[in-house]
Amino acid sequence: EAKNIPGNSYSLFLSELNDRIQDRQRVEMALLDAVANKQLYIHYQPQVDMETGYCLGAEALVRWQHPELGTVRPDRFISVAEDSGMIIEIGRWVLEQACADAMKWPKPGKLAVNVSAVQFEYGDVVSAIKHALEVSKLPADRLDIEITESVFVTKQDKFIQTLNEIVDMGVGVALDDFGTGYSSLSYLSRLPVDKVKIDQSFVKNLPEDEQSMAIVQSVLSLSTAMNKRVVAEGIETKDQAWVLRLAGCGIGQGYLFGRPQSNEKFCKMLAIDEPQEILQKAAS
Ligand code: C2E
Ligand code: MG
Ligand code: MG
Ligand code: MG
Repeated sequence: EAKNIPGNSYSLFLSELNDRIQDRQRVEMALLDAVANKQLYIHYQPQVDMETGYCLGAEALVRWQHPELGTVRPDRFISVAEDSGMIIEIGRWVLEQACADAMKWPKPGKLAVNVSAVQFEYGDVVSAIKHALEVSKLPADRLDIEITESVFVTKQDKFIQTLNEIVDMGVGVALDDFGTGYSSLSYLSRLPVDKVKIDQSFVKNLPEDEQSMAIVQSVLSLSTAMNKRVVAEGIETKDQAWVLRLAGCGIGQGYLFGRPQSNEKFCKMLAIDEPQEILQKAAS
C-alpha cells in the first residue's frame, strides 16, 4: 500500500528509474555510432568435445569498447539495440565479421553466432545469413546460429518456417539458454533445432544441487531421444565438467575451457590442438 511506503522511497524509486532510462538513452545514442566508428569487436569462446577434450569451434560474442563508457557488456546494450532496431545492423555485422574470422582458423571448426528474435521478425535473417556465407565463402555446415525461445513467442509458424529455410541452407540451429524460457521439453520436438544449450544457471550449482542435476538429466535424456546434441554453458569447475560428461553431455563451454578471446588468440589455441587435460584424464 502506497501510504506504507516511507516518504522518500517512492521518489528514490522514481529517481532510480529515471537514471535507468537516461542510462538506456545514453547507451542508445552512443550505439548509433558504434558500428560506423568500429567500436564493436568480437570475442570467441571455445566449445569442446566432452568425450575427447578437443576444441570443436567457438561461439562469437560481441563486445563494445566506447571511448567514454568503456567496455560495455552485451547484457547492457543488446536489449537497447533490440528495442531500437539497431540489432539488425549490428547482427548483420556480427554475422559477416564472424564468418570472415572463422575463415582464418587453422582448422575448420564450427562457428556459433547469436541471432536475436528481432532479426527474425524484422531483419530478413535468411538473406543476412546467405550474404555473410557468400561474402566470406564459409561453408554453410560450419555455421550454427543460436536462438532463444523468445523467437517463438509470437508468429510461431512463420518463424519455424524461417528456421527451416536456414536449416535447408545447411546451417545448424542451437536453442540457447534452454530451460529459462517458456517452452516445454515436448515442444522441442517440433522445432528444427539440432542442438540444445543448457543454460548456465543450471550448470552453476552442479554437482551438489539435486534440482539442477535433475533438470540437466531430463534435458539430456529427452534431447538425446530427439537426436539433438546438448551443449552445457558456463562450465567453470572440473567437478561440473566431470558430472556433465558422465551424464552424457556431448559439448561443453565455459571459463574452465577458455574465456571469450580475440580471434588471434583463439586461432593459436586451435593450432596447438591439444585436448583439454581434465577431459583427457576423465577418458582414461
Ligand atoms: P549467451 O549467448 O548465452 O552467451 C553466453 C554468455 O556466458 C557470454 O556472456 C559468455 O561470456 C558467458 N560465459 C561463458 N562461459 C562462462 C562461465 O564459465 N561463467 C560465466 N559466469 N559466464 C560465462 P556475454 O559475452 O556477456 O554475452 C551475454 C549475452 O549477450 C549472450 O548470452 C547473448 O545472449 C548476448 N549476445 C552476445 N553477443 C551477441 C550477438 O552478437 N548477437 C546477439 N543477438 N546477442 C549477443
Ligand atoms: Mg549464445
Ligand atoms: Mg546462453
Ligand atoms: Mg544468455
